[in-house]
Formats: sequence, C-alpha cells, structure tokens
Amino acid sequence: MNTPTYEPERFHSAEYLAVLDEQSSPMLFKISKIALKSMRHAAETGYPLEICGLLIGKVTDTGWQVHDVRPVANLNKQRAADRFELDPAAYQAIDRELRGTGTEIIGVYHSHPDCPAKPSPTDLNSAWEGFAYPIISVCDGQAAAVQCWAVNNAGNGFQSISIEEQTS
Ligand SMILES: [Zn+2]
Repeated sequence: MNTPTYEPERFHSAEYLAVLDEQSSPMLFKISKIALKSMRHAAETGYPLEICGLLIGKVTDTGWQVHDVRPVANLNKQRAADRFELDPAAYQAIDRELRGTGTEIIGVYHSHPDCPAKPSPTDLNSAWEGFAYPIISVCDGQAAAVQCWAVNNAGNGFQSISIEEQTS
C-alpha cells in the first residue's frame, strides 16, 4: 500500500499556489464506495493519459450527493497527459437523459497522472461555479489520493471539500 506520490516543481510555483483557497469549505462531497472505486479504476485504466467524467446526483444545502459516475471521452489529444476537455456532445446527451429524473450533472472528475490531486490554473479556468471537482492522483498507474474541490465564492480559487464515503 506504499504508492509513491509525485509533486512536480510547478505545483510549488506561485501560479499554482494562487489557485488554492486556504479556507476550506463546510460543504461535503458524499459518494458511495462503489462510485469512488469506479473513478479510481477509470483513472488507473486511462493511465498515463488524463481521464475525465461526469458526476450525476443532487446538490443540497450541505454539499453534493453523487448517485452515479459516467466516464466521458477526453477530447484533448494533443496534451492528453495533462489536460482534459470533456466531449460536449456526451455532456449534452447525459444532460438530456437526466431531465425529469430529479438528478442532474453536479460535477466533473478527472485524473492527474503522476501529479498530486491538486487543481492547476488550467483547471480553474475551465471550472464552473457550483460544480464539484474531485481529482484522482495516479502514480505509476496506481490510484493514490483523491481530493475534491469547488470554486470559491470570489471565483478566484478552489476550496477543498471533504469527501464522505458511503457504504450504501
Ligand atoms: Zn487537472
């Protein structure tokens, strides 16, 4: 269980540190063990490329309740090792499918191959307010840390969100 972790120099740069909001959020990210496991598995299967997918569930007063996770193609082929670009057609299809179900798309997960589970400035540029952004660190092909993030009220950084694993 001793997975090595990697933290490239850029994660210590002022540009990267500026993306992290020191204040943590009281909101919770609730997800079943099975759904969490499937995100970790997808991250390992896609390694060394970055994978991404959608989180389906409900947003409540206390945070995010995930019901399902759906892998979506990463359209960024040029820099698939460290960038992701969700397939918009897949997004729209899932969004349509969810109409009337009482659930919706509540966030986006993606992996960081051989990098920590911390958001990058690029992640902030593409992030939407109100969405949950779990990041799965994959080191040497093994899923390591998973951390969840959400854009702060000012829109200029990510706050860390506690993950609550549910057995059912
Ligand atoms: Zn990222």
